Amino acid sequence: MTKITFAAALLLGSCVALGPASAQRAFDYSKVEEKAVDLGHGVFGIIPTSDDPAMAIGCTTIAVGTDGIIVVDTQFPALYDKIRARIREISPLPVKFVINTHAHGDHTGANTNFAHDGAIIVAHENVLKAMSHPAAGAPVPKENWPGQTYSGQGTEVKVAGQRAELVHVEHAHTDGDTIVFFPDADVIATGDTMHRPGYPSVDAPGSGNSTDGMIAAAAFTVDHSDARTKIVPGHGQVMDKAGARSFRDMLVTARAILRKDIAKGMTEEQVVAAQPLSALDKIWLVKGNGASTRFLVNYYRLVKSEMAAP
Ligand SMILES: [Zn+2]
Repeated sequence: MTKITFAAALLLGSCVALGPASAQRAFDYSKVEEKAVDLGHGVFGIIPTSDDPAMAIGCTTIAVGTDGIIVVDTQFPALYDKIRARIREISPLPVKFVINTHAHGDHTGANTNFAHDGAIIVAHENVLKAMSHPAAGAPVPKENWPGQTYSGQGTEVKVAGQRAELVHVEHAHTDGDTIVFFPDADVIATGDTMHRPGYPSVDAPGSGNSTDGMIAAAAFTVDHSDARTKIVPGHGQVMDKAGARSFRDMLVTARAILRKDIAKGMTEEQVVAAQPLSALDKIWLVKGNGASTRFLVNYYRLVKSEMAAP
């Protein structure tokens, strides 16, 4: 992993409010398996796996120190007992800190459970704004809000023997994304700035995201990885630098294709009929997954809004 310089973090565009994704259909979470993946130096991915591709559940990362544990992202309340059981199998120490990579419910849903156990929830200040003043949907219960926020380009969270470096990447998947680096283990937890496999979910234009920010965030992870770096994406399986590079390249290629079609005057309906991303679909489309299947339309809308902006 190359050293992080906070000056390299991204400054893009203006800040707008973002509502957390809350639309989830009823799923049978009892069938979800939480698999612990040992990433070395006391850091583990807790990776949810399910036969149902529609089930969008974020990945969790834990870093075990000598006096406590740092957790990145909490998935859904219905999965808390399983996640907590996996953590207990690894260490009996208390969870002292939970870091939220962003506000979406599939990454913050079980914050309350961890907070009840005494953990301090840490996130970028825009995560608190998104939860306390959602642009749409039902308000998020106060118990789920981060109790400690940071502003600017980054901060650090420590327990004895483990250090997490939090880097804010601006206007990427949301307006409150944090990429978490565990330098001693050479592990990066990207939140939804990276997926494997599958297209990422793309929020509506005006919600605080941007294609420049999405691409820059993916490039930030690529640039701060080396051949040994283990990357825990927002969704899917643990990946490496080559996988991160392909994800970044996919975002760049898809945007270039859509920019051309939009410049030709193609409407959303015409683009959906033409399926211009069919070559990328072979690698990136996860059939049955809502975010993945909506990528073409949602990315088209975001690219179009950016091209129309003054
Ligand atoms: Zn998300």
